[in-house]
Amino acid sequence: MDVNDRDVRGPERQPPAENGDADPAVPSARGERGSGPPSPPASLRNEEMLRYSRHLVLPEVSLEGQLKLKAARVLLVGAGGLGAPSGLYLAAAGVGRLGIVDFDVVELTNLHRQIAFGTSDIGRSKIEATVERLRDLNPDIEILAHETRLTSENALEILSGYDVIVDATDNFPARYLINDACVLLGKPDVYGSVIRFQGQASVFGLANGPCYRCLYPEPPPPGVVPSCAEGGVLGVLPGIIGSIQAAETIKLIVGAGETLAGRLLLVDALKMTFRELAVRKNPACPVCGPGRTIRTLADYETFCGAPARTADASPGIPEISPRDLKTRIDAGENIFLLDVRESREYEICHIGGYLIPLAEIRTRVGELDPSRDTVVYCRQGERSAAAVAFLKRAGFSRVRNLRGGLLAWAEDVDPAFPRY
Ligand SMILES: [Zn+2]
Repeated sequence: MDVNDRDVRGPERQPPAENGDADPAVPSARGERGSGPPSPPASLRNEEMLRYSRHLVLPEVSLEGQLKLKAARVLLVGAGGLGAPSGLYLAAAGVGRLGIVDFDVVELTNLHRQIAFGTSDIGRSKIEATVERLRDLNPDIEILAHETRLTSENALEILSGYDVIVDATDNFPARYLINDACVLLGKPDVYGSVIRFQGQASVFGLANGPCYRCLYPEPPPPGVVPSCAEGGVLGVLPGIIGSIQAAETIKLIVGAGETLAGRLLLVDALKMTFRELAVRKNPACPVCGPGRTIRTLADYETFCGAPARTADASPGIPEISPRDLKTRIDAGENIFLLDVRESREYEICHIGGYLIPLAEIRTRVGELDPSRDTVVYCRQGERSAAAVAFLKRAGFSRVRNLRGGLLAWAEDVDPAFPRY
């Protein structure tokens, strides 16, 4: 028998200790490691003892740490690729109150990495599907659903109900928002991000540690770092990084080991290397430095120069709708189609035309004829908008962007057209 800790389970049958049971919602057990006698075991039921037995026998966790997990309140922002593994492991670990913020719906393209969902969940709200999955995994914990987008208006209120915040988002405005809110509230921000084969993880916002702005004072210019939809991501990678975020969260709560505070972990899944960079607190940091200027939450979408989610319209860029383009092609108009995606995307699907990937358009602009009516397209209309902006500056006056790209083409013109 590997569960033979009767001496630990025995006190369950004793009357409650004088200082009472820990209320799972009150983090009273936190921060008391090593001071005074261990917390009374009366707040774990026999079934919980069995469920967490592999934690209980770890000296670094033990019953004391498991009670801290039970008393802890963790907020997961994002129920996607990072949120799925971190949510599953945190629920499994017995975090007493787990909040989840998300506003998305499960799509088929999510399933190669968002492992909390099944095929039957397509079309459901991610929150609903996640809560159901986590309740099944661990019915003993409290799971709170915040079905909303985290904004400057609601972030402080939502975050203030939790002890640790896990940033499982996928965009820069959300990362700066979570960082600033965590620093203002004095809460740890367990950070993770993934793109292609590259992942990052760290812990920000501890009293003497750096924050996300200490590491990245400014967001990258819009369009420089692609989204996972544009750039792709190895499905396993968010599983690795999200699991690291869960491990860091558990260590923060239990008080064991060394966290990633002050270190940025860089994972390269193609070479399978794990490197780390030292991250120092920046004395000039506008949110956590002594001369801080940021004291309230601002407009993070403006700060990052782009909306958190893609907008169809690109101001100042001449456009054509997919239906309009179809009508003109059918009427025999001589329209030159320019595809600015990568060749591997062209192999998946295309509507004909000439292929010049966006990154090559500056050097290959001489291959194009400025006197022709040209419609530029890509997958969803962002890269093609950038190409149209460049071509207009280069003197092309008869060039337009296919609004919404091939995704809109599939939606509005040809339902049988492949989407990716
Ligand atoms: Zn800072």
